[in-house]
Amino acid sequence: MSVLTLADVYHARCRLEGRAYRSPLIESASLSALARTPVYLKLETVQPTGSFKLRGATNALARLAEQGCKRVVTASTGNHGRAVAYAARALGIETTVCMSSLVPGNKVEAVRALGARAHIVGKSQDDAEAEALRMTREEGFAYVPPFDHLDVIAGQATLGLEILEALPDVANIVVPLSGGGLFAGVAFAAKHISPAVRLTGVSMERGAAMHASLEAGKPVLVDERETLADSLGGGIGLENRYTFALTRELIDDVILLDEASIARGVVHAYRHERLVVEGAAAVGIAALLDGALRDTLQEDSLQRGPLVLIVTGANIDIDQHRRVINEALGNKARSDGAASNDA
Ligand SMILES: *Cc1c(COP(=O)(O)O)cnc(C)c1O
Repeated sequence: MSVLTLADVYHARCRLEGRAYRSPLIESASLSALARTPVYLKLETVQPTGSFKLRGATNALARLAEQGCKRVVTASTGNHGRAVAYAARALGIETTVCMSSLVPGNKVEAVRALGARAHIVGKSQDDAEAEALRMTREEGFAYVPPFDHLDVIAGQATLGLEILEALPDVANIVVPLSGGGLFAGVAFAAKHISPAVRLTGVSMERGAAMHASLEAGKPVLVDERETLADSLGGGIGLENRYTFALTRELIDDVILLDEASIARGVVHAYRHERLVVEGAAAVGIAALLDGALRDTLQEDSLQRGPLVLIVTGANIDIDQHRRVINEALGNKARSDGAASNDA
């Protein structure tokens, strides 16, 4: 698709220099043994704001700064909001984060700690978003959307460049999928450089908006539900301009996972890789553990190139992380106990 060019991605990479890391790509011994092909983890958990969102936000904000923009607004208190606040501060742009009165105090503090102004408004995320859009229309703030924006997509696409440079013979890339900014960017860059690479998107069963939209052939709404992969929640926008079409064109496979599987991914990352990852970031590992990638791997049995799982972020509430780990340990103790009772 010609809306984006590989030159845009290389330009994005220049803007990211010194602002976001070229992240490590490490081989996982445990997962390679399981897949019987080398499996690598691309660790976006090391980014200064704890997720890859810093790439897209930095590229979009650097472009805005080039145009003389001084003030941006967002309604995200999650990984996108953090990335915008961090990148804007580095570029000398002021950030306002609109959030409802229901947003917990620790999140409000986290926003302020990044140097952004917390603007408390209304009683829901929709109210906060409406206010951010009003400020964009009426007060001259710039709005950086979380995924459906070409500069954001080009920023995320730098991940694809890094993977192809480090592993030119990569056969499979597995990408956590929500609004599709990450998927569209990575798939665009990867397939441009190596058309044979297979791209798999992974979402949670609970409220997978892109999957439902691909099935319907157009953007559709889904009910948002609570999930351990909270960074994958939210819709793709009924007026989606770029990520839906790009994802539809470039995706080879979509996998949906249940909550127990996502939890297993988080636990595996912790126990075998010594990594604290959020649910959204663990879905690639989870898909592999579940056997959900078996078909993908088998189709490649002749070439058997490496598989890359993008580990997108580390921003899980630390108490929640402990609960997930403890629950898994409890289950294991019970099943070990059951096994020895049987014996
Ligand atoms: C935003 C996000 C995703 C999904 O990215 P999209 O561009 O919305 O598809 C995956 N993982 C984490 C940690 C995220 O913050």
